[in-house]
Amino acid sequence: RELPGDTETGPRRREVLGAAWSQIAPTPVIAPKLLAHSPEVAALLGFDAAMVHAPQFAEVFAGNALYAGMQPWAANYGGHQFGHWAGQLGDGRAISLGELVVDGQRWELQLKGAGPTPYSRGADGRAVLRSSIREFLCSEAMHHLGVPTTRALSLVATGEAVMRDMFYDGHPQAEPGAVVCRVAPSFIRFGSFELPSSRGDVALLRQLAEFCIARDFPELTDAGEERFARWFELICTRTAVMVAQWMRVGFVHGVMNTDNMSVLGLTIDYGPYGWVENYDPDWTPNTTDAQGRRYRFGTQMQVAYWNLVRLAQALSPLFAEAQPLQAGLDAFRERYEVEDRAHLVAKLGLGEFRDGDETLMAQFRELLQQGEMDMTLAFRALADVAPAAPDVAVLDESFYSPEARAQVLPALQEWLQRHAHRVLESGQSEHERRRIMHAANPKYVLRNWLAQEAIDRAERGDPAGITELLDVMRHPCDEQPGREAYARKRPEWARERAGCSMLSCSS
Ligand code: AMP
Ligand code: MG
Ligand code: MG
Repeated sequence: RELPGDTETGPRRREVLGAAWSQIAPTPVIAPKLLAHSPEVAALLGFDAAMVHAPQFAEVFAGNALYAGMQPWAANYGGHQFGHWAGQLGDGRAISLGELVVDGQRWELQLKGAGPTPYSRGADGRAVLRSSIREFLCSEAMHHLGVPTTRALSLVATGEAVMRDMFYDGHPQAEPGAVVCRVAPSFIRFGSFELPSSRGDVALLRQLAEFCIARDFPELTDAGEERFARWFELICTRTAVMVAQWMRVGFVHGVMNTDNMSVLGLTIDYGPYGWVENYDPDWTPNTTDAQGRRYRFGTQMQVAYWNLVRLAQALSPLFAEAQPLQAGLDAFRERYEVEDRAHLVAKLGLGEFRDGDETLMAQFRELLQQGEMDMTLAFRALADVAPAAPDVAVLDESFYSPEARAQVLPALQEWLQRHAHRVLESGQSEHERRRIMHAANPKYVLRNWLAQEAIDRAERGDPAGITELLDVMRHPCDEQPGREAYARKRPEWARERAGCSMLSCSS
């Protein structure tokens, strides 16, 4: 119901009542330059190489031009941030260009950093190059790891400087800007429903729910009266699948506010995320969360549940009774356990789940933490332990500290014996076990310092490191001879460096 803002003076920032979105055009930039693109996403959209490398591509995906048929908009939503209701948030710097249906699959194309919208709330609507590189790379890295995620088509430099007054390398500074084009079937968030519900706008809440079910949940076409209940259950179970995958690969989202939770169960909004290196369930990469430490690696399942309870409350006006909502929440816990056990069995190479396996895993994680071991390297190396004669030396590469190693070695050797015993009992062939373990335990993950190296190079004018890193992350579970440098544990220089282990929301 809102009219678009006056494009000459910029959009009028405002409370948008009674509407789920606003028309808004991207703000053009001075000098668009394509820095990187994802060949897989281009193929999904039916874009060939000639189209990607045509000058118009960089123009469109920087926000300077539109392809015929595009009618851009920004979405309205609210959210709980760090445990508190934050009111209207909305796409303050994301602008959707349109939808494309290819081979029956619908894709929404969305620019991030394309300028102000009615939801910008005083900020500039722009994104800096470093955070755009991080979002571009991680979207694709997660996809190739098998984690449900929004995708990224392109990364375009704007040729403009962005001022960030929050801390990055210690002081406020001008930084190069960029625009990422994100791609997903839908960007609807938990907060998309929380906002109209918080305003008592049940008509809009219902309209948006019906729209979302009709567009994004074709499996519910024939669900009739059951559709809202089955829809909520699907949101819950997809969220469970997603978070279990985060835990499998060592990903920490860092800002699990309800405005950053997709109803499709896709990882969305890559900000101060991080990858666990020395294993620590209490680690959070988000310095903005340093006090509350709400968004730690080990609490992501609980936080997802908390967020789903917020969504259930928001959707409750659509339900005559609470029972179906509680059933959905229960389905979240059940599905999480199923997924987590499947990952556990694959990661440890156990063949099938048995009583006691959860303890075996918990003890291994305990040892990883005590021994300050690299999560990715340690799990990966487990496949190389010979069950007939387990040798702890196989795990040597994963230690960050000789002292912690010495301390944990006897207990680790003992654990390896028990693990080997359990593996031998499972009766799998060596070949099959190694194949399953390698597929569950990636060799290459987007360690923060790897992204930072690509960022440093790009900020010096050499974007090639972005595509090089993307190429490695396209095959995270394969051995890639000659690329071992990308599978190293965190080097000493990266331990305390901004961008490598700690990140703020300033992006
Ligand atoms: P985030 O913490 O990135 O999920 O963002 C929370 C809210 O702040 C969302 O409504 C964003 O659109 C908005 N926001 C973040 N960065 C900017 C920016 N540079 N300009 C305008 N709005 C922003
Ligand atoms: Mg967000
Ligand atoms: Mg963000």
